[in-house]
Amino acid sequence: MTNILITGGAGYIGSHMVLKLLEAGYHPVVVDDLSTGMESFMPPGVPLHRFSIGDADKLNQLLRATQFDIVMHFAAFIEVGESVKKPEKYYQNNFFNTLTLLHTMKQHGINHFIFSSTAAIFGEPHYTPADENHPKQPLNPYGASKLMCEQLLQDLDTAYGIKSVCLRYFNAAGADPAGRTGYRTANASHLIPIALQTALGQRPHMEVYGRDYPTLDGTCIRDYIHIMDLCDAHLLAMQHLLAGGSSRQYNLGNGQGYSVQQVIDTARQVTGQAIQVIDSARRPGDPAKLVADSRLIQQELGWKPRYPELATIIEHAWKWEKQCYRAGC
Ligand code: UDP
Repeated sequence: MTNILITGGAGYIGSHMVLKLLEAGYHPVVVDDLSTGMESFMPPGVPLHRFSIGDADKLNQLLRATQFDIVMHFAAFIEVGESVKKPEKYYQNNFFNTLTLLHTMKQHGINHFIFSSTAAIFGEPHYTPADENHPKQPLNPYGASKLMCEQLLQDLDTAYGIKSVCLRYFNAAGADPAGRTGYRTANASHLIPIALQTALGQRPHMEVYGRDYPTLDGTCIRDYIHIMDLCDAHLLAMQHLLAGGSSRQYNLGNGQGYSVQQVIDTARQVTGQAIQVIDSARRPGDPAKLVADSRLIQQELGWKPRYPELATIIEHAWKWEKQCYRAGC
C-alpha cells in the first residue's frame, strides 16, 4: 500500500486529488487546517488531520506514526491581490511552512515531493505559449513565494537527493464530472465561478476587467485546464518519482487560450442564461495573454488532457455550482 500525504487535501485541487488517488488504489492521508478547505469535501474513510503544516510538532507525530512514500503539497494561499496587500502572510504560509514541511520530511527519510507551482512565477509573458525555460520574474508575492519553493527544492535535491516534481498550473477550472467536489464559492474571485454565479442569479451582473488588450476581442486570454486533467498529471508525476525518476519542472495547461469574452459566451451557451456583464477597468497585474506550452510533460510522462474543451470544463463547473447553490454551501 502506497501511503501519500496530501497537504491541503480538503481544498479545491487537493480534494479532487484525493478522489483520483482512491480510484487508482492508493492510500491518501490529509493534513488541512480547514482555513479554506471544507471537511465535507473529504470522502468517507480518508483520514483528516486538522492542523497547519507549519506545526512541526504535529507533523512529526504524524510522520512518526505513518511511513509515507511521498508528499503532495497543495496547502497554500492563492490570491494574487491579497498577496500584494499582505505579503508576509504569503511568505509565511507558502514558503516558510513549506520549508518546515520539507525539513520534517527529511528527518523522517521521505524523499519524494510533488509541489503545486504556478504560472505566476513567470510574471509578464515574454512569449506565448510559455515553456519551462521562460524567464521567471514574478510580479507579486504569491508568485515569488512559489518560485522560492522551487529554488529550495532544487537545493534539497543537490544536498540530500530529495526528488520533486513542480507542476506549474495555468488556470485550473472545472469540477469532478461526478459532482463529488468542486470549487468552494464563498468570495470567488475567478472568472468561471463568477460567471456561473451570475447565471444562477447570485450576482446581478459580472464585470469584464478590460476590453482594450491587444487580443482578438480586446479581453485577456488564459489557458483553462480541467481539474481532473491536472490531477492526472500529479498521478503520473508521482509514479515517475516512485519509479526512481529525477526531479522535474513542468508547465501545465491545455496549450489553448480562450478570451474572457469567449468564456462568458460559452458559459451563456452551457447555462442557457443571459449573464449580465458590465465593462470595468483593467485589473492591475493582469497580463494580456497567458498560455502554457505543456509539450514537455506530454513527451516525458505521457500526460494528455482528457477534457480539453472549454464547454466541458464549464459544464462540469456548472453542475457543481448548481449543487452548491441548492445545498447552500
Ligand atoms: N476576470 C474578469 N472578471 C472577473 C474575474 C476575472 O474579467 O470577474 C478576468 C481576469 O481579469 C483575467 C481572467 O478573467 O483576465 C482570468 O482571471 P482569473 O481570476 O479567473 O484567473 P487568473 O488568470 O487571474 O489566475
